[in-house]
Formats: sequence, C-alpha cells, structure tokens
Amino acid sequence: MDHVVVVGASLAGLRACEQLRTSGFAGTVTLIGAEPHLPYDRPPLSKKLLAGESEPDRIHLRKPTELDTLRIDTRFGVSAVGLDTLARRVSLDDGSTVPYDGLVIATGAAPRRLPGQPDAAGVHVLRTLDHALALRAELVEGRRVVVIGAGFIGLEVAATARTRGCQVVVLEGAPAPMIRGLGAAMGTAVAAVHERHGVDVRCGVQVAAIETGASGVRGVSLVDGTLVRADVVLVGVGVAPVTEWLAGSGLTVRDGVVCDETLWTGAPGVYAAGDCARWMNPLFGDLQPDPAGAPGPDGAAAAAAPAGEEMRVEHWTNAAEQGAAAAANLLATTAGEPPTPYAPVPFFWSDQFESRIQFVGRAAGAPDEVVEVVAGDPSGPFVALYGHRGRLRGALGVSMPRLVMPYRKLLAARASWDEAIAHSVVT
Ligand SMILES: Cc1cc2nc3c(=O)[nH]c(=O)nc-3n(C[C@H](O)[C@H](O)[C@H](O)COP(=O)(O)OP(=O)(O)OC[C@H]3O[C@@H](n4cnc5c(N)ncnc54)[C@H](O)[C@@H]3O)c2cc1C
Repeated sequence: MDHVVVVGASLAGLRACEQLRTSGFAGTVTLIGAEPHLPYDRPPLSKKLLAGESEPDRIHLRKPTELDTLRIDTRFGVSAVGLDTLARRVSLDDGSTVPYDGLVIATGAAPRRLPGQPDAAGVHVLRTLDHALALRAELVEGRRVVVIGAGFIGLEVAATARTRGCQVVVLEGAPAPMIRGLGAAMGTAVAAVHERHGVDVRCGVQVAAIETGASGVRGVSLVDGTLVRADVVLVGVGVAPVTEWLAGSGLTVRDGVVCDETLWTGAPGVYAAGDCARWMNPLFGDLQPDPAGAPGPDGAAAAAAPAGEEMRVEHWTNAAEQGAAAAANLLATTAGEPPTPYAPVPFFWSDQFESRIQFVGRAAGAPDEVVEVVAGDPSGPFVALYGHRGRLRGALGVSMPRLVMPYRKLLAARASWDEAIAHSVVT
C-alpha cells in the first residue's frame, strides 16, 4: 500500500492520519477537507468560542508545525464528489481525481434543516467555525433568541446566549428536553438548570414556520397560532451524516456508511469513522432475550439477543477513537493481520451553565429501560444508571465526574444491572 486517502479533515480524519504515521506507514497520506480551515475542534463552537472567551486560532486540533511533521498532503477547501471503489479513486469538485490504495471516509455530519427553512438574516445553524462566528456576532445583550430543538447543541447555545445577556426561548416538539440522549425523566431534570437561569424552555410545542420580514427574521410561529418573537433563531434539530457524495459507489448507506465491527465498508481498502459511520458495536446487546421476541421454530423461548448493536455515534471521543481504529485496521488487513473489532464504551459530555453533563454508555431509549439515581439528587449534582434487560447500558453524571467515570470500566466488562447496583452501593 503506497497511498492512503482520508476524506474529511476534522477530528476522525486527522486521528486516522496520525495513526497511520504512528503505526509506521511511510507512504503518501492525502487529507481532503471541504472547509478552508486547518482542522479544528467543534465543542468550543457552542461554548467558549461562542461566548467570546476563545478565538479561532485557539481551537486548532494541531498546530501547523505539528501537521508538517505528519507529512500529509493536505487538500483543504475541496470536496469529494464521487467514489469509484473498482478503480479506487476519489473525484473532487475541482475536477481532479485522487487514486488510493486505502481510503478512510470521515465526512462527519451536517445540520438538518426544517422544511421550508428560510435563508434569512438572523436564521442560523451551528456546525462549523463560520456558523459559530456568524451566530456569535448576533448574540448581543438584550436580543431575543429562539432556539428550535432542545438537544445538546440547542441547549448549549441557549446557555451561552443567556450568559451573554440575551432573552432566550427554547422550543422543543418532544415532551422533554434531551430526550434522545437521556430519556424524558433525566432530560427534564438536567434541563432544569435552564429555568433557574431564566431560559424559557417550552416542550411539546410544534413549530409551524420561521417568520421573516424585509430586514430578516421576525419570529417563530407555532401550529397553535402563537408567534414567538425573535431577533435571532438557531435551528438545532439534529444532524445527518454526510454521505451524498457516495451515491453510486456501491457502498451501503443507511443513516451513515454501514461498516462491519472492524469499520470495514465491504469495499476493498475502504473504512469509515466518526459521525458518518454506522457499525456493529460488539460490546452492546442485552443479557436477556427480548420478551416480546418471536418464539423459535421449535416453539422454544424467544431468540437470543443479538451479539452486538448497530450504532452511529455523534460525539467527540468516538470520532477520535474510531478514526484511529479505522486506520489501524486498514494497515492490519493490508499486512495480512486480523483486524480488531471496534468495541468502545461511548462517552460524551455537555456543558450547560454550571452543569457538566457526562454520559458513558448508551441509553437504550426503550420503554422497558430502567433508570435509577444512585448518588446525589437530580435537583443538584447526581449520578443515574441506565439498564436494559438485565444489563448496565449507561451512566449519567451531572457535575460528579469522579463518580460517573468508573462506570466506563463496568460497561467495558459487560456488567449486569445487579453488578452495577452493587458497585454503586459500595462507592
Ligand atoms: C457545536 C458543537 C458542539 C459539540 N460539543 C460536543 C461536546 O461537548 N461533547 C461531545 O462529545 N461532542 C460534541 N460535539 C460533537 C463532535 O464535535 C463531533 O462528534 C465530531 O466533530 C465528529 O467528528 P468527525 O470528524 O466525525 O466529523 P466532523 O467534525 O463533522 O468533520 C467532518 C469534516 O468532513 C468535511 N467534509 C464533509 N463532506 C466532505 C466532502 N465531500 N469532501 C471533503 N470533506 C468533507 C466537513 O467539512 C468536516 O470538516 C459537538 C459538535 C458541535 C457541532
């Protein structure tokens, strides 16, 4: 293998390049990125950078000199528009093509838009540095900010905007904030910090349209006829994996690039990592069979739970670890060695006002999921465990980092629910 191409010059892509070099790959590495900037960190975009406490030159993932030592052929400001897995080449929007022996796809995710979302002054999404700088310029004291979507990004922006002196309303269609990541009860408990700081969080409301006038956005209308007035609107309704450029490549794309447990896409030499990758995580799956599962042909009990769970993770730690893992497996298979299954315990954090939210594992989001507070109290710092069918699935900590992180080890050891509860009694 002489030439590895990495498409997507952000966290997962950069970590793939670094892994290639630390593993001793001496061939050519080409890193292709649609954005004109050096690779940068996204978490500050809704926190310190948005708050004006950090500047773009402070959020680079690597200094230019560090990038030089990796000896990467960088192509920034150009997008991949096509992939030919038979001829092994990537086509770019400048008309050129780049041949590869090995390829890592790390094109991340992009903000979803509302149907009919206007491109008017004052209407924002947040994914890139340019988005963050445009939004920051409008978060001026006294302005009315409406955030559509009470997910992590929406609530982080709400907290930052409020801290900058804006009047903030959050509109969420689901019955509770952060429902997808934390479930309804914990989402409501964790988001209470917003009410304490004067953010108006309204759940169970349906947005009809973003209303605009000659000078830009006027507000957000709801299906019940209410108009919530706004000078600034942030649409934070989630992200979609960036995979359009893979149309016609023959790769399986289903809400992400589908990979096996070693991050291989099924095409020779092609791996995927980060927010765009969907893979089978062998660490997850239930200890007990699904009680509602169909009986086997002999009429015996329901089929055993699958040995893993297909997932796509949209968080920092996964992008970093998965980028490195994809590159390591590309090198291993090329050398005729067995690849290593990628079986991480997902982890994310979110900072909202004084709360540091940390989650290890993954909420099942199933009706029969069990959630139990094992330390503290949801009105302040606390830890809650998530279990499903006899298995520990996750642990949520709010401003209790010392207590929550040890659950990562238990999750990696596939601990049962009873083992996790016993651990929390001891600690
Ligand atoms: C505002 C914000 C705050 C966040 N805060 C947290 C946090 O507190 N905690 C946490 O755990 N996670 C957080 N995250 C999530 C975390 O940043 C992402 O999971 C991580 O950036 C994913 O990295 P990635 O490399 O997979 O994809 P991305 O970071 O999305 O990078 C993909 C790159 O590929 C480029 N690209 C796309 N298509 C093409 C193409 N066709 N050709 C070439 N290049 C292309 C894109 O321009 C982009 O630069 C946050 C994200 C955002 C946006």
